[in-house]
Amino acid sequence: MSNCVIVGINWGDEGKGRMVDLLTEDYDIVIRYQGGGNAGHTVVNEKGRFALHLLPSGIFREGVVNILGNGVALDPENLWAEMSEVMSKGISLTPGNLKISERASLLMPWHRKLDELEEARLADRKYGSTKQGIAPFYADKYRKKTVLAGELRDRGRFFDRLEELLEWNNLILTGVYGAKPYTKDDIGKWFDSFCSKIAPFVCDTGGFLENARSEGKSILMEAQLGALRDIDFGIYPYTTSSNTTAAYAPIGSGLPSLRPDEVIGVVKAYSTCVGEGPFVCEMSGEEASALREAGAEYGAKTGRPRRVGPIDTVATGYGVGVQGATCLALTKLDVLSYMKSIPVCSAYTVNGRKTGRFPFPADLGGALPVIEELPGWNCDITGARYWEELPQEAKRYVEFIEKAVGCPIKYVSVGPERDSIIIRDL
Ligand code: GDP
Repeated sequence: MSNCVIVGINWGDEGKGRMVDLLTEDYDIVIRYQGGGNAGHTVVNEKGRFALHLLPSGIFREGVVNILGNGVALDPENLWAEMSEVMSKGISLTPGNLKISERASLLMPWHRKLDELEEARLADRKYGSTKQGIAPFYADKYRKKTVLAGELRDRGRFFDRLEELLEWNNLILTGVYGAKPYTKDDIGKWFDSFCSKIAPFVCDTGGFLENARSEGKSILMEAQLGALRDIDFGIYPYTTSSNTTAAYAPIGSGLPSLRPDEVIGVVKAYSTCVGEGPFVCEMSGEEASALREAGAEYGAKTGRPRRVGPIDTVATGYGVGVQGATCLALTKLDVLSYMKSIPVCSAYTVNGRKTGRFPFPADLGGALPVIEELPGWNCDITGARYWEELPQEAKRYVEFIEKAVGCPIKYVSVGPERDSIIIRDL
């Protein structure tokens, strides 16, 4: 039996969905363990191109059981929209291949509203929220002011609990923001339109996982976003509101006693970052546009153009450490094929001093990148399937990163398709 966690090493959008889609072949169970529908995994396979936000990426594999763990922000409206979309493309979703933890907390309609109102209040001081309600949701989860998915099984009990939550949230909506309060009727409609649809998938996933474990089933846990967005170890406050780190995977998945055998960290061959916050390696002007276009770097959820830059070995080395990565998957190497010489950030200077340590978040604003140039390969590498088929310069680039961040690169991805991958024998 082997258990594995797939995590992002940087700011998110590293191509985790693509790696999970590839690796699900070897696993019986795939679990999403944190975060909500505020980011997206893009998966391209023989069934089409899918932007997944909440559904685990194993959903396309027959025989794989997919679980939404207790650590996720369970948004019934978004989840049902995503399930409907996937089902409309011929993918079958049943309580057999999709299970929602009864311990997952519900993202309520007012969470999205509160997120929107707060971003509007902050105006140009905003954090760059995707306005999916994630921050208000996690705040409410930890102050115990939301409902567990298991409570959807009993409409009467759900509405008894709702009374107190409505009162509390309406006080904030009306008192702080001067917005319209929610009525029991609004929530009734929401319940009937979305919650009742997902309720048949809600079950005791903890019990299911304990059985599966005793039967020797293998488990893959997938994270959303990356190490630098972790609420505890990321670039606070420009983080997400949950733990994106591998250490949280057993908790958010529903098997707190599990010790993963492997942590695969996903890193893009260059840097991208969505939204606000410090981004030391940021490129600008034509150089940035060229890289953005080459890599089609636009948000999967929002369509926002992503900020781009050279690979940042300082941030990546930090991410590797925080995640406890046992190996790395380097994605989108093919995107760099157009560059004559490839910039890499090999260190920072902070207050005039060169350092390889990732600074405290508030000091990042004063950090400058130290850029080195490596030779490019200037040819199409999308057909390469073996390490030996890569040009010398591409191998050198991979080995440079490996050495700089202190972790072996086992997978090199050269295209979005499932089989566009080189798996190295390390
Ligand atoms: P995730 O949230 O970490 O899964 O990342 P995204 O889905 O936002 O970003 C990954 C994007 O890059 C998707 O559009 C993938 O189809 C695409 N992609 C992944 N790996 C590769 C690769 O090796 N080469 C190219 N050209 N595209 C890739």
